This record gives sequence, structure tokens and C-alpha cells, in this order.
Amino acid sequence: MMVQPRDSILQVALSAVQRLLLPDAPPESLYQTLGELGNLLQVSRAYIFETFSDPKTDQQHVGLRYEWLAENVVSLKAMNPDIGAIPVESFGRLAEWSDRLKAGDVFYSTTRDLRLDEQSNFEASTLSVLIVPILVNHEWWGILGFDDCVIEREWTEIEIDALKIAASILGATLFNKQTVQALRTSETNYRALSAQLERRAEAMAALYETSLDINSQPDLSTLFYAIVKRAAKLIDAQIGGLYLMRPDNRSLELVVSYNLPKDYTGVVLQLGEGLSGKIAQTGQPMLSDDYSIWAGRAAVYDGTPFRRVIGVPLKVGGKVIGTITLSDIERTGPYDDEEVRLVSLFADQAAIALTNVRLFEKVHEELAERKKAEDALQISEMRFRTLTENSPDYIHIIDLSTNETIYINRPDVLGYSAVEILKGRDTTLIIHPDDLLVLQQHWRQALASQLDDQAYVEYRLRRKDGDWEWLQSRFTVMSYLDGKPHEMLATTTLVTDRKRDEEALAQSLNFYLGLLDTFPVPIWRSEIDSHIHFLNTSWFAFTGLTLNHTTQVAWRASFHPDDWDKWEKIYTSAFKARRSFEVECRIYHTDGTFHTVMIVGQPFNGLDGHFVGYLGVIFDITEIREAQQRILELNLEKARVKMLEDFIGDVSHDLRTPLSTIILNTYLLRSASDEPKRQERLTILEAQAERLKKTVQDLLDISRLEINITELTFTQVDVNQMVMSIAQFYAPHIAQKKLQLEIDANKPLPSILANETQFHRGVANLVENAMKYTKKGGISIKTYRRDELIIVEIADTGIGIPAEHLARIFDRFYKADRARSTEGAGLGLAISKKIIEAHGGKIEVESIEGVGTTFFVILPVYPANL
Ligand code: ADP
Repeated sequence: MMVQPRDSILQVALSAVQRLLLPDAPPESLYQTLGELGNLLQVSRAYIFETFSDPKTDQQHVGLRYEWLAENVVSLKAMNPDIGAIPVESFGRLAEWSDRLKAGDVFYSTTRDLRLDEQSNFEASTLSVLIVPILVNHEWWGILGFDDCVIEREWTEIEIDALKIAASILGATLFNKQTVQALRTSETNYRALSAQLERRAEAMAALYETSLDINSQPDLSTLFYAIVKRAAKLIDAQIGGLYLMRPDNRSLELVVSYNLPKDYTGVVLQLGEGLSGKIAQTGQPMLSDDYSIWAGRAAVYDGTPFRRVIGVPLKVGGKVIGTITLSDIERTGPYDDEEVRLVSLFADQAAIALTNVRLFEKVHEELAERKKAEDALQISEMRFRTLTENSPDYIHIIDLSTNETIYINRPDVLGYSAVEILKGRDTTLIIHPDDLLVLQQHWRQALASQLDDQAYVEYRLRRKDGDWEWLQSRFTVMSYLDGKPHEMLATTTLVTDRKRDEEALAQSLNFYLGLLDTFPVPIWRSEIDSHIHFLNTSWFAFTGLTLNHTTQVAWRASFHPDDWDKWEKIYTSAFKARRSFEVECRIYHTDGTFHTVMIVGQPFNGLDGHFVGYLGVIFDITEIREAQQRILELNLEKARVKMLEDFIGDVSHDLRTPLSTIILNTYLLRSASDEPKRQERLTILEAQAERLKKTVQDLLDISRLEINITELTFTQVDVNQMVMSIAQFYAPHIAQKKLQLEIDANKPLPSILANETQFHRGVANLVENAMKYTKKGGISIKTYRRDELIIVEIADTGIGIPAEHLARIFDRFYKADRARSTEGAGLGLAISKKIIEAHGGKIEVESIEGVGTTFFVILPVYPANL
């Protein structure tokens, strides 16, 4: 076995020291030292264990720190996973040796010599162990160990001494290293501490500034903004916001938004919604490590760049009134307690600010309110005084329990001094005896609050100097005591002058009325009650009436009975609106007939400017109206003549056509040689004569209708019945033509006003046409009601009417297609139209050529049956 000289061992230890002492030497350089020692000593393992005590149990442990292995040797770590911390107690011999190790002795043993229970502590292939203590500053720091798995190695004194020195050098170095490390750590700690202090100082400064702001900055939102901004700056957050609880106490509203990508102010969160909603619910600060993926985030903030977020509540008296939230847009992970504490301090500030402002506003409001009330009172007192003292009226307040005047706004009244009045004298003595009753009655009504605001009483009072004055008083109960009138306010105006004027006025009015009386035109005048109170001499002369009753009765008697209502309606509504008016009526004339007159009325005011009634004139317009009527009749006559001319034109054409056929066929009849030919001619002759007869009949009808339409008599009839009878009449003819007939006329309908014969005719024409112009298919007749109208519908599946003819088929003599309808004269529809129009109705038609035609007879329901 090769003994290593002491120097080589120390050399290795020293070079380790040199390496370790380099300022930035990593502790791993010990591996190198172990390797050098292991190689030098040719052992299988070289290792360092560190001793330490468990801070909880104070039990001493050893733990493997560094290990070097020769080739093909098993690591100690592989044997025991707990090798980082083994209680010394459970280490058998080593435990027994610990005191000696602490004293600097080495421990050596062959594995063989170890107790069985100890052997498990050593790796199985190990044959011998040498353990050298490492002492640091006289304390047992750890051990330097060497295992041999090849031989049961013996150790020389020299080797052991050298290893002891190497261990102590390593110890000193480690101590140094540790001290430096400790120093470094404490320096870092100190730095961190001072940075923290600095931050706290910054926070304090910011908080202090905020507290100053609270007192100087009355605008809450500016203040809140500053608070959020400062808090954000302090914890390096880029974004922030402040929510306040809304009055419903169930939702929060964002009132400050700092640096948010867009202005989110006004955003509302419900309790429990998003971070702030949850904070408001729990009253506790809350963090989100990464808001962008946080399950609890509020939907409104989807797409915002919030990463880690911190939120704290604003509380007043334990109640959450809002939240402050701050957010980082880059970093994720939690904020630390210190940051939570800081932001909470700002939240407290914000809460204080809010409370302050609210208190301040309340006090202000109360002060303003009180001031307003005081001002109002002062103003109203001032007003009252100014009003009463400057009022042209006399204002008394009378105590109703004593009937004494307790206030008067004038030093004297009608020569009586205020003292005389206030003393309360029996005023009845100076009231004009004629007015006493009306005054007392008025007073009683005022006491019973039966008067409206405008009610007043006029009476005479004797002045102190003996003259009479006219007074006008209003009485109002001013206050009540125990539900009874307590004080009466009396406002009195001197109206003597006005009364005098009124008298003069009345006289002058009489004068003017006198003038009107002799005016050469009929004149009427009504008064405020709207009755006619004056009719002048000319009126009596015009009507020939004499005054037996009142002018109103005479006035009414002069009217044509049919015209009175018209007059009354116009006059009454004009009177209400104080408008002038004109109305045309017939009034009785002394010549025994009714004359058409224009009654003109004009509202007129008395000389005092107040409306007093109407003044009116009557113009006789009988001659004008007669002349107008004549012109009207003349025009009508002209129109008739024109119509007749047109008519004759049309008729002559329609008469001439069959006549020429008749003449032609008569001629042909004469020259016809054989019997069948003669018969043919005769048939034609007969048909044409028949057609002529029908045309003449139609003509007669239509002209009769045109002349006599106003003379038709109408009765209430049932449409269904009429339609049924028409349908029944035509049914056999329709069947003969092999056409279907469909009738739907049994729903109950209100009756109409109709001339039965004419109406029958009007509708029958339509049915006849339907038959005439339908070759196959059928005819349907229906009755029904639409709103206030009754409709008779006659539809067919015939040839139809080309659209371009539709508008004209109701014209006289109009035929849609002369070639195809040789049967009629084109008068049927014109007659129907005339008849239905005479019934206040109309006929409409819808038709599609080749498909069919529908006629609608539309009639008004007899109003009484609506
Ligand atoms: P007419 O005696 O020619 O039938 P009307 O005045 O009754 O005269 O009718 C005028 C024209 O309207 C007819 O010539 C015919 O062309 C057309 N017309 C009337 N009713 C129908 C109908 N139901 N179907 C088709 N055409 C009709």
C-alpha cells in the first residue's frame, strides 16, 4: 500500500482553499478537491457530510453534500434516499462517536467490525471507512469521509494528521465562505429591506399626499383618479379602476378608469360578478394570477390585456362601498401580502374621501336649505309688508273671536284714525242702511267659506265728515283655530269714482240706445245673459209684430219655425267664443211671407271695456236669394237641354238600326218567293220589332227615372227577400240555358231603405246580363254585410268585359262589343246605376275577359238598424 506524503495531501487541501477563496468560487469546486484527494489516496469514495440541527426538533442531523466516486463504485445516494438528512441518533457508532468527532478525533472502522444494525448505514460493498471531522470555528461542521471497497484499508498517522489539517483548512475556508455568504445574504437582505423601506416611504408619501388631497380636492372623481394612479404606480401596475356600490346595494359601477384600453367608466357589475363583484360580496381583498384565463372574470372585460390583478374593498363602518382594482398587463402570478396591504391603505383613503365628501355635501345642503327657508320667510314677510303698505286697497285683519280689527295697513280710513278703527267700533252704524243686509249676508258666506276668490260685495259707508263713499270688499278667512275661523282678511277698495262713472255710463248708453231705436234698419241687442233685450222700431216695423211679452219672446216669434234651431246653434257658439257671426234665416215679414234675411251680430263691450252682449243688424236678402235661385234654375235647365240633345243623338242611332233592318226585311219579305224564306224574314221582323219595343221601354224608363227620381217613395225592405224573389224569377230561364245557379242569401241582414219596384229592376238587370253573357258554368248571387254596408254580389262565368271597356259600361247606350251583343240597347246598366244611386248606393264591377264578371251592388244600411 502506498502511503501518501503529508505534503501532497496538504497541497490538495490548499489548492482547494485557493479555489474556494476566489470571490465567486462556486461551492461545487469542492468536488474537484474531493476528486483530487480520492485519486491521491486511492480510495473508492471521498465525501463531505454537513451536520445541522432540525430547527423544529433541535435534533442533530448529518447530510451528504459532496461525493466523489472511483470508477465502478456505487454512490451513497443510491443506497439511501434520505442521505441528505440522517438523524445522528440513528447512526449507531457515529452517534456514539459524535462527541469525540466534535473534539477533533477521527473515526475508523472496517465494515466487518461494525455492529449488524450499523452495517445497513453503509453501502454493502464498502470494506473500510475513515471519517475525519471538519470543525469550523471550533464547532463540529461536518465530516470528511473516505470509503474503500477494494481492501480493508489501513491509515498511517501521517495520512490521518494531514487529512485532519486538510479538514481543518477546508473548515476554515468553508467558514470563511459561509461568513462571506452570510454577509452577502445579509447585505442582500439589507438591500431588500431598504428597498422595502423606500417603497414604504414612497407609499407613505403617496398616502400622505392623498390625505392632503382629501381635504383640498373637493372633486371626488379627480381625487379617486389620483388615488388609483398612485396605488398603481406603487405596485408597478399599469391599469387601475375604482368601483362604487350603486344605491341598489346590489351592483357596482366603475367610476374611475385609469389607463384602461378604452373608457370603461359606467360599467356595472352585479354582486359576485368579476373580481370586484366578488370582493363586494366577501369584503376581502382578492387576487387573480392571470385575469385573461381566470374563470371568474367579468364578460365585459373579455379581450382586455389584464394579467395579474389585485382588488381590495373600500369599506366604511365594515360595509363595502366600493373596490379598487389594479392590474398588470405583462406579469402573471400573485401579488404579495405587502402589496395587498399597501393597496388596502389606498382603498381606506378613498373610503375616507368619499365619506368626507358625502358629509360635507350633506352639511352644505342642510345649510343651504336652512338659508333658503330663512330667506324665503324674510322675503315673504317683506313682500307682505311691501304689498300691504303700498296697496291702494285697505287691508284689515279682523280677530273673529272679538270682532276687533287687529291689523290695518293705513294710518287712517275715510277720516277715521287707525286707533279709532283698531279700537273696534260698531261699524254697522256707518254702513248705508240699504246695503246693510247684502253686506251681512256676504260676511256670513265668507265665514262659511262659501265664496270663491273673486266674490266681492259693494256697499256704502259714511265718512267721518258725513259724505257717503262706495266701497268694494273681499272677505277671506285667513286662519283657523280649533277648526273654527279665527281671523278674517278684508281687502277693501274705494269705488266711489267708478260708481259715479258707471252711472254716467249707463246714461250715455241709454243715449246711444235711443239713437239705435230710430235707426232705419232692424237692430237687435242682447245682454250678458244672451237674451235679446232690445229690438228697435225698424224691427217691429219689418216684422209687423207688437210687444206683448218680452223682446226675447217677440224675437223668437219672428223666426220661421224651421230656422230657429239653426239661429240658436250659431248664436250660442258665437256667444261663447265672443265671436262675430252671420246667419241666414227666414223671418216673418209684415207682408205675410217669410223673408230671407242675413242676421249679423257683433260682440260689444260697455264703455268700461267689459263684454256686455251682442249688437246686431238684420239685412233683407230675399231678392238677392231669389235672383240667385233663378240663375241656378236656368243653369240646370241648360244642362237638361244639353243632356236631351245627347240623348236624342244616341236614341236615334239605336232606333234607326232595328228600323232599317225592319225596312230591309219588309222589302225582302215582299219579294220572297217561297214559304220558308218568308217565315225567316218574319222571324227577323218580329225579333227586331221586339228589340225596338224593349229599347223604347228602356228609354221611357230611364227618362222617367231621370225626371222622377226625387219622387220615389222608400220603405224599409229586407234585401234577402228581394234577392230571393229575383233569383226565383230567373231560375227557370237559367236552368233552360243549362247554367248553374248558386244562391247565398239567408244570413240575417239589417234592412235597407228602398223603392221596391225600382230596386228589383236594378238588380234584375244585372242577373239578366249575367245570363245573357254566360254560355257555360253558372251564376252566383250572394248577400252579405261589410261594416255599415250591405252588398249584393252577382257573379258569372261568362265572356267577361275587356278592361278597356270597364270604365264605360255604365254609360247610356254603351256596349262593350257591339258585334257580340246584339240583344240589348246598352241601357240596362245605366238604368241599374241610376236606380242604385237613387238609393244612396253604388255599383262596382270586376271582370276578367274569358273568365267571368262580378257586379257588386253596395247599399247603406238603414241608419236606424245599425
Ligand atoms: P246591354 O243591353 O247591351 O246588355 P247593358 O247596359 O246592360 O247593355 O250592358 C252594357 C255592356 O256591358 C253590354 O253590352 C256588355 O258588353 C257588357 N256587359 C254587361 N254585363 C255583362 C256581363 N255579365 N258579362 C259580360 N259583359 C257584360
